[in-house]
Amino acid sequence: MFWQKDIETIDRKELEKLQLKRLQNTISRASKNIPFYKDIFAKSDIKPKDITSLRDIEKLPFTKTEDLRANYPFGMLAVPKEKVVRLHTSSGTTGKPKAIFFSKKDVNQAAELIARCLIMTGVKKDDVLQNMMTYGLFTGALVMHYGAEKVGVLVIPAGPGNTKKQISLMQDFKTTTLHITPSYALYLSSVMSNEGLNPSDFSLRRAYLGSEPYSEETRKKIESFFNIDVYNSYGLSEMNGPGVAFECTEKNGMHLWEDNFIMEIINPETGKTLPDGEKGELVLTTLCREAMPIIRYRTRDITMIIPEKCRCGRTHRRISRIIGRSDDMFIVKGVNIFPQQIERVLMGIKAVAQNYQIVLESYDRMIVRVEISRELFDGRVEHLVNLKNEIVEKLRAEVLVRPDVELLEPGTLPVTEGKAVRVIDKRTL
Ligand code: ADP
Ligand code: ZN
Repeated sequence: MFWQKDIETIDRKELEKLQLKRLQNTISRASKNIPFYKDIFAKSDIKPKDITSLRDIEKLPFTKTEDLRANYPFGMLAVPKEKVVRLHTSSGTTGKPKAIFFSKKDVNQAAELIARCLIMTGVKKDDVLQNMMTYGLFTGALVMHYGAEKVGVLVIPAGPGNTKKQISLMQDFKTTTLHITPSYALYLSSVMSNEGLNPSDFSLRRAYLGSEPYSEETRKKIESFFNIDVYNSYGLSEMNGPGVAFECTEKNGMHLWEDNFIMEIINPETGKTLPDGEKGELVLTTLCREAMPIIRYRTRDITMIIPEKCRCGRTHRRISRIIGRSDDMFIVKGVNIFPQQIERVLMGIKAVAQNYQIVLESYDRMIVRVEISRELFDGRVEHLVNLKNEIVEKLRAEVLVRPDVELLEPGTLPVTEGKAVRVIDKRTL
């Protein structure tokens, strides 16, 4: 099923023509109306009129998070303030907030992209979407909300937390679709199983999981507990929020809406563009943003472009699951580690429950604290010893550093409502 079949299955040559036209338009507006870009073009040899092919984008400088912060609050605005109807800020997991503005057209366009995503995963008007992302300054909940209303589904603006209430909403209104972070989905599953609730008695069919990295193992764990399809959802406030890239029913990479964004993958160290299929940092340029166009934004998210055509018929290329942020990576004993590598190992072990934490004690000592099933605390120490050894060995094989592992009872570690804090770096505290 398609929301906008013509554009979702557009011939690639046509798509590239459209991208170039929109890119030229974006650059010309940005260089005229945004002092930051005006300055860049004034100082550089490259002028907007020199962009005559899509490859020429590589000649343009990057826009970084620091640039958005430096131009806070209104510096990146391309339209008069009367045209702005909405403000969002990024959740600021990585520092001070950035202001993101939407015109009426931008609000509508972001909702159109969400509508594509929902229809792509089989949503119909009689679906009920329980939106468990945080409402407020974050983009996550509101952008999804508007898109779902556009499709015509019933949206429950539940927000995160208050888990018992969430469960009764799901029961009373026969929720079919969840929009939720992976860490909250894991927590919800633990509460439901503690309460002895059977997810098959609910009406759930699918969940959209995004806003933080998670592994295929976590997807499988959540799918099998709730007996639903889990679709990966990627976005960032700087690019509207959710709806930038989304999985179709093939569940094999996320289609990135290329009529709205130009994507590039670069080597984060050298800034050089990498070919499709190679892992690197995702760089995005907005093509339809009215209030706040952004050119070559460095997302710091590590992924790759999947060049093969997708069986669903959409021609917009896919990106693979986000491996992590370049700034999430940490080093222990000289080895580069992404938190998600640890998560993948843990969630692949059946006895492991829903929550874990990585504590970096020193430059050569990492402790992985992990909650395990309650049944294992049955007084038989050998069970715990065996499990602990299994976890240590599997982690060592994955990250090449031998961690200390602490086994904990469920509920020991703190639960966060927004993005989970997985790494405690005592070295920098
Ligand atoms: P902040 O930059 O303050 O965290 P956002 O709320 O805009 O602000 O978060 C966007 C970021 O969340 C992305 O850049 C990415 O790192 C992460 N993210 C969003 N969706 C996913 C996803 N499906 N998989 C992995 N990471 C994701
Ligand atoms: Zn597809």
